[in-house]
Amino acid sequence: MPDLRDTIRCHVIGNLPAGTRKRWRVDFVDALELGGTCDPPGLRDRTIRVLRSSTGKVELTTTVHETLHAAIWCLDEPAVKRLADRIGDALYDFSVRRSNTRANRSEVYFLAWTINNVLSVELDDFSLRAVKELALDLARLLGRCGWQRTTVADYVLPLPQLPVLSIKRAVDEYAARRWPIVPAHTRARTGLCSCNDPHCPTPGFHTRVPLNNATCDRRRLGAWWRKWPTANPWLVLGGAAGLICIEARGPEAAELFGAWQSVYRSKASPFSATWNGSTNVYLYSTNETHDFRGDIELEGDIHLLSTGCGTALPPSALSSDVGPRLTWQLDGLPDDRRERPPTLPDWLAAKAQTIITQDPGAASVAAPCSQYEGTH
Ligand SMILES: [Zn+2]
Ligand SMILES: [Zn+2]
Repeated sequence: MPDLRDTIRCHVIGNLPAGTRKRWRVDFVDALELGGTCDPPGLRDRTIRVLRSSTGKVELTTTVHETLHAAIWCLDEPAVKRLADRIGDALYDFSVRRSNTRANRSEVYFLAWTINNVLSVELDDFSLRAVKELALDLARLLGRCGWQRTTVADYVLPLPQLPVLSIKRAVDEYAARRWPIVPAHTRARTGLCSCNDPHCPTPGFHTRVPLNNATCDRRRLGAWWRKWPTANPWLVLGGAAGLICIEARGPEAAELFGAWQSVYRSKASPFSATWNGSTNVYLYSTNETHDFRGDIELEGDIHLLSTGCGTALPPSALSSDVGPRLTWQLDGLPDDRRERPPTLPDWLAAKAQTIITQDPGAASVAAPCSQYEGTH
């Protein structure tokens, strides 16, 4: 049976950051001093060479590595190496191996999705669109070489923890959507809060500046995150932006909330984030219709958070370097930044209204939203 890799004659790959596209031939060769090489973009017959005798993860990583050189020539060797290694690790964790048949479309999509997750974190300075194109080009090349998952029932297996949006990119994204945010504290691996109070009651869960300093101004945000690069982005609810949050704390509450949604036939919203089994669903509510404030417990650890409260946004981490991160539940936020979260549905508004009417003191603006606000 002929080697599938011999059929790869030429492949188009994205060229960042110029936005031009150039072609490189991809050759699997028998003799090569290094595992792989990539000709510079200035050469007329540009070729990527990968040593044919390399196998497994080395072959995968080398193919990705050399293609990344071609695609982003300006990137230095350590950066390319780190990126290629991360992509190789992620794909290998998902049981991706090389076979001698081309990957089908859904497998190529899966490869692209995984690669895109890694690239969009690391390539902060490139547009998400350019990164997505590059991920797709890389995935198509790997698919042609026969790389695909060997485990079919992947969706029932626990998925490896993939990297998410970088904090810098996420903060830019929220600013572009006019979501007012402030930087919050982070919790170290040791459990110590960055406020340095050993008795901090909510480590990593209070803001570094008062909530009323929230802004969408990029210069101000840039200054904050240069000062505290690992700060979790914290959304300030209510006010002019009109965002409120339904927070289902813990898997049981999330399940109950899911049941409500199916009863009321609410669609899954792209504006919902999860971590550790808890779910945050963002909704839009204008003051003319409802004027909720504070933290209202709707039922069984499902809360409606509004004016006076804030919530952590993806990619906030429970702890600065390990453990789960908050992620957008679907494939990230909608591409169109003008798109707003769905309007607070009447049935939910009615539920909250009933609770406040029965017990006017039900809404509190205590933990976790504004407690400790600005005191550290
Ligand atoms: Zn290299
Ligand atoms: Zn603290």
